[in-house]
Amino acid sequence: MKDDNCIFCKIAAGEIPSATLYEDEDFRVILDLGPASKGHALIIPKEHYRNLYDLDDGLASKALVLAKRMTVRLKEILGCDGYNIVQNNEEAAGQTVFHFHMHMIPRYQGDKVGLGWHMGKLKEEDKEEILNKLK
Ligand code: 5GP
Ligand code: ZN
Repeated sequence: MKDDNCIFCKIAAGEIPSATLYEDEDFRVILDLGPASKGHALIIPKEHYRNLYDLDDGLASKALVLAKRMTVRLKEILGCDGYNIVQNNEEAAGQTVFHFHMHMIPRYQGDKVGLGWHMGKLKEEDKEEILNKLK
């Protein structure tokens, strides 16, 4: 399944050139054009899925294994001090390209990469509501 209007479909298929770090039958791994830090890369499946909600289960499993392998290798090359794996779903969560992808963001001690949140406190009523609705 491909989407003719999707830039990541074209990049994954090699129709638009990209700095490719790895490729197999299911995925292409590329350097992000707007990196949060040196070495910021994206894992992109070759098939079109809007985001995690509709991603094929087999590809979902493979994507995490690939992220593991890529970060283990890249951290040696980059000499980074940590890694964030980030994956945005829908606009409210910061998704701007609507073809599933995983960010691999190298972290360097003291860098100014703006990931994170202010910690709240789990409310008793929220906990009860969520646990009950999931039953
Ligand atoms: P999102 O915000 O959807 O989670 O992430 C989209 C990412 O794709 C952004 O980090 C952006 O810099 C990157 N990006 C958008 N267009 C291109 C492109 O044409 N080539 C590459 N290599 N990265 C892109
Ligand atoms: Zn696509």
